[in-house]
Amino acid sequence: MTRTTCPYCGVGCGVAVVDGVPKGDSAHPANFGRLCSKGAALKDTLDLPDRLTTPMMHGREAGWDEALNHIAAEFTRIRAEHGPEAIAFYVSGQFLTEDYYAANKLMKGYIGAGNIDTNSRLCMSSSVAGHVRAFGEDIVPGCYDDLEEADLVIQVGSNMAWCHPVLYQRLMAAREKRGTKIVCIDPRRTATAETSDLHLALAPGADVVLWSGLLNYLSHHDRLDREWTGRHVSGREQALDAARDAAPSIAFVAAAAGLRLEDVRSFYEMFAATERVVTLYSQGVNQSSSGTDKVNAILNCHLATARIGRPGMGPFSLTGQPNAMGGREVGGLANQLAAHMTFTPADIDRVGRFWGSPGMAKMPGLKAVDLFEAVENGQVKALWIAATNPADSMPRAGKVREALKKCPLVIVADAWPTDTTALAHVVLPAASWAEKDGTVTNSERCISRQRGFRAAPGQARPDWWMFAEVGRRMGWDKAFAWQNPADIFREHAALSAFENSGARIFNLGGLADIRDTDYDELSPVQWPVPKPGGGVTGPRLFARGGFSTPDGKARMVPLTLPVQLPAVESTLTLNTGRIRDQWHTMTRTGQVPHLMTHIPTPSMAIHPRDAAARGLADRSLARIESDQGAVVMRVSLDEGVRPGDVFAAMHWTDQFTSSGPIGLLVHGVTDPISGQPDLKGAKVRLTAIAETWRGHLLRLTGGAPELSDALWWSKTPITTGFAFELAGWNALQREVHSETVLRRLLRISADSELVSYSDPRKAMFRYAGISRGRLEACIFFGPPGADFSGVEQAKAMLGRGLTAMERMALLAGIGGSGTKPAGKIVCSCFSVAQDEILAAVQAEGLTSAAQIGAKLKAGTNCGSCIPELQKLLQSVPALNAAE
Ligand code: SF4
Repeated sequence: MTRTTCPYCGVGCGVAVVDGVPKGDSAHPANFGRLCSKGAALKDTLDLPDRLTTPMMHGREAGWDEALNHIAAEFTRIRAEHGPEAIAFYVSGQFLTEDYYAANKLMKGYIGAGNIDTNSRLCMSSSVAGHVRAFGEDIVPGCYDDLEEADLVIQVGSNMAWCHPVLYQRLMAAREKRGTKIVCIDPRRTATAETSDLHLALAPGADVVLWSGLLNYLSHHDRLDREWTGRHVSGREQALDAARDAAPSIAFVAAAAGLRLEDVRSFYEMFAATERVVTLYSQGVNQSSSGTDKVNAILNCHLATARIGRPGMGPFSLTGQPNAMGGREVGGLANQLAAHMTFTPADIDRVGRFWGSPGMAKMPGLKAVDLFEAVENGQVKALWIAATNPADSMPRAGKVREALKKCPLVIVADAWPTDTTALAHVVLPAASWAEKDGTVTNSERCISRQRGFRAAPGQARPDWWMFAEVGRRMGWDKAFAWQNPADIFREHAALSAFENSGARIFNLGGLADIRDTDYDELSPVQWPVPKPGGGVTGPRLFARGGFSTPDGKARMVPLTLPVQLPAVESTLTLNTGRIRDQWHTMTRTGQVPHLMTHIPTPSMAIHPRDAAARGLADRSLARIESDQGAVVMRVSLDEGVRPGDVFAAMHWTDQFTSSGPIGLLVHGVTDPISGQPDLKGAKVRLTAIAETWRGHLLRLTGGAPELSDALWWSKTPITTGFAFELAGWNALQREVHSETVLRRLLRISADSELVSYSDPRKAMFRYAGISRGRLEACIFFGPPGADFSGVEQAKAMLGRGLTAMERMALLAGIGGSGTKPAGKIVCSCFSVAQDEILAAVQAEGLTSAAQIGAKLKAGTNCGSCIPELQKLLQSVPALNAAE
């Protein structure tokens, strides 16, 4: 058995690999054996096709020596001619800590610029900035056990049920036992909000007024801990004054946040009356032009009431990525130096001496949005991107793509081709999750080992090795002489303890001398780790003060209300986020057929009222424009979306849809302190498109369908190949029926038989490519509203020989017996559709998720769909009445 960790979210679940099959690790303290739908599907990602296995230069294969020598020579030349700031790294929360350490040391200690930033900038840099402002250091003060020991849990801008499912399930289990009250603060009625006791669907950006109102309420009702704050907090009176000015009354808050007065009061009363309060927050707070202030507004309330660092209470930032925390510890953000040190002269000197640096970076580097602007304007001339896909995930994605096209040297290290590798001059094949060794830190400061259990394919190598090789080839052999990840980890741990007399709580000194064998065996360990001579340690911090500020006191921050972007007539606010079964830009999860069944196509969710005002029906097409770009997407009507907002998932890319990444629409506004992009605040305009035809293409291979313009498409992997949904808004081109076009579209050879069945009167056309009796591809065209029920059966026939009856049924478009009912799949583990669940609920009088599980197996594997099962149960009023 190999013990490792899940490579997706910041919960950091342990994985035990037995006979090559990843399963939940019952001994890991984050998950105790549970995995969500993504983690449970890890076994299906081990042998994904299209791995990058060879270094490539300008589209041709190259050896490692050639590629690395080229990078080192170009970096040396550019550094000499234009200075170190002309080189930049953009890395990833998917990195292991050792990868991060190697990249950070090379950039800040040797190339000599601060220009290394990470996609964690997009995820939680506002939390980092908020922590530093309040605590003097980037510290999450609590632990997961607090969720199980709290009496009130507040979820702010956090759809835990979908984005941190295993932790959410721990919370739900605790709620069953102790009756935990849950408040969800989110503009959208998410799966998480559905199960809360109180949902505050506040207006986007109104968090500061809501939390300032709470602080004011607590002060007014004498619920502050004046004794504790007197000893351990500075800035209390200034923060209270500011809260009074910003949110003078509950009525003011309710009006400003677009909430019912009684709901705001109810929330405030619950907080005031409950000592054990945990506030969980994530991207809904962080990804904002006022993200840092939102974080401090939350921290202010916990500090003012001393609800921090004790069992069942505290503010808790949930990180999105598996090792965003490790990146923060190393210094992977451009405004950090290393090991929780910053760009003060003393820290620069200390880290420089530790590293033996020939020329340290003297100032913070460019944060992500600024970094790509510097690429665009030519200031950055060489960019190394690793384990991330900014051509899709960055705001202003269209401009990012243009910038990369202009950049003289773009290096991309990844395991699979992406829209970013397509723009690289040098592509480096990276080892993937199952092939790498190192450490990760989860949201509760727990360091776990990630252990490789498969050989990397071809010439793929870990990222730390690539950075070390380039460092050596630039002439710094000794500084980058690591032989393995354990060497790097020891150096990282030693740096955290170097001249650290307690000023920095982040201290892994107790692990600085860890032997290779002990590193191999390392069990999950939470920092600060015990070390010789004692010092701060334990799962919770700050109950007795001891903040990392010069006076040891936390700082409450006086906050004013954020400046709102001016409203533009008829625009809607674009909220972006994640869906349950996908991860980032879908390079892995998007290739697993059953993970694509829950939400197979991208769409823009809109409240029915806003849709009606624009002539939009459910599943209709709309043109969506912002000041950054325009896309065509399907719309989905959703009463859970706040009127005035729309919501779209962040995952889809050019590889999966013509709609392109949602980043094409997102503006470049950032938080002024953290530099985190406002990924939930762009203004968009929706216009209905009159669809003229729809189609379904089934093929053995992926790749965009070759049809003329005025075409929308979306691709889904299926067990037999790929399914494309198509639609157009021009008359279906006559040439589509030409044999040449059809053969290209179906990707069938000249030897294959092209058979057709057409009913021009109904504008229905079906074509199939058959080779030696085997169905290679087929395409169905018809008007909107046409019956495409035969598509489901055709999916099952793809790639296999057809009987005469099947061939007839295929071309007649007739669905056969045994075809799964169409409709939304709720449980992706067992492919259980919503229709089946509702039918069983009604027919058998099922009243609980457990009963649905016993009947249909839905929800009995990973449990990620349980919130939706509960919602479906609630949607059957007759049964609810009977309960
Ligand atoms: S909650 Fe899911 S995605 Fe996150 S670490 Fe656990 S198994 Fe992985």
